[in-house]
Amino acid sequence: MPPRKSLRNQSTAVVESSVTRSTTSKTSGTAKVGSKTRATKRKAIEPSPEPELTLREEVETKPSKRRKAVAKEEIEEEHLVAEELEAAVVPKKPRATKAKAKAKPEDAIPLAERTAVATLKKAMRIGAHVSSAGGVHNSITNAVHIGANAFALFLKSQRKWQNPPMTAEARDGFRNLSKTHKFEVHHHCLPHGSYLVNLAQAEKEKADQAYGAFLDDLQRCESLGVRLYNFHPGNTNGDARESAIGRIAAQLNKAHKATKTVVTVLENMAGQGNVVGSTFEDLRDIIALIDDKSRVGVCIDTCHAFAAGYDLRSPETFAATMAKFDEVVGSKYLRALHLNDSKAPFASHRDLHANIGTGFLGLRAFHNVMNFDTVVELPMVLETPIDRPGPDGKTVEDKQVWADEIKLLESLIGMDASSAEFAALEEKLQAQGASERAKIQDQVDRKGAKDAKKASAKPRGKKKKKAQEDSDDDSD
Ligand SMILES: [Zn+2]
Ligand SMILES: [Zn+2]
Repeated sequence: MPPRKSLRNQSTAVVESSVTRSTTSKTSGTAKVGSKTRATKRKAIEPSPEPELTLREEVETKPSKRRKAVAKEEIEEEHLVAEELEAAVVPKKPRATKAKAKAKPEDAIPLAERTAVATLKKAMRIGAHVSSAGGVHNSITNAVHIGANAFALFLKSQRKWQNPPMTAEARDGFRNLSKTHKFEVHHHCLPHGSYLVNLAQAEKEKADQAYGAFLDDLQRCESLGVRLYNFHPGNTNGDARESAIGRIAAQLNKAHKATKTVVTVLENMAGQGNVVGSTFEDLRDIIALIDDKSRVGVCIDTCHAFAAGYDLRSPETFAATMAKFDEVVGSKYLRALHLNDSKAPFASHRDLHANIGTGFLGLRAFHNVMNFDTVVELPMVLETPIDRPGPDGKTVEDKQVWADEIKLLESLIGMDASSAEFAALEEKLQAQGASERAKIQDQVDRKGAKDAKKASAKPRGKKKKKAQEDSDDDSD
């Protein structure tokens, strides 16, 4: 890493290094990130309030260029991680935060106007997981910036146990801005929980730590007037599934009693092995143990569902999957959606988000979602990749991607899927994602062949296979 020469270099380094972050903990990951960028990571995380202030401005003052033939080589499995790191480097000085919030250029130039939901044929609330760097109130401005009618955010750093309390300024700012911009945050805001928290944790000390962080998030929701809170159910760590599910439910019951209104929303997962929540049955079994059923719900992530073996691609398979969800879990528990295409093929159990229409799900799957009455008015959140190489080869976020995807999804409402217009869109997007799909398909095929070999070998290989499964790339 060359020495930082200017603010511009520095800020891009922060973004870039955040992207590196998620890949370092993954063993089966496919992303190859140079050690050069990895080395910058620590530096970037070190709190140094002054330069960080400029991070967002630096990135966003740059006029966002339209998505081109995106070089996606290095950005898989890294969705949302920039936000996490930004949250980790939140400036501590309230004065600085205020200045930052006010100076945001995005206030003036939105990348897209928000669509009046009343003008849509169905009231679909589409948005993205936006940054809350500098304080939760900034998430509202960031949502408005991309024309979002729903949004997700992290309430604090996602990879740290210790976090400063939310400031009164951030809280009041959030409440005021949500009024100004007419965001019904109790319906259309879906904070995402910490990746560190595992409510299935069996060890007392660790379980208490997880519960503390979880409860703190729920309390933050309530102080913001936010009703829904999305989180990953947990991991058995090799223990019996039934006991793990029992522990998750017990933690949830306790958290519900300690709070008043917030609804804890379980996210379906892509993985297998020790991951809890990749089957509808897991979600059902957790909900069955919840005392107050009005305090629990489900968020379906389209990429995770598909990777877990629930097909959504054709109108028929989509209907069958949603009927299955209704039968096993109950549609009334569906409170939100994560809208992500999948770079990995069906039932591959890999969590690799792709841009809408470019993955193995394809545009037809999203046409199915956009015309499905059950999801009307639910918050729908994009967690698609927006990183792309900047002019100097470093990764920058292109929020225009989300602004465009929101409009694309809205355009699918009521669109005739047999029309030439739809076919042209579908073809264009599939072509954009072709090389990436081929790459991941190849990986999945190789792994399948390897696993088959191991399975036919002696028990020696068995342990290894399991470890590999468990390390699969779930991230958000
Ligand atoms: Zn994911
Ligand atoms: Zn998630």
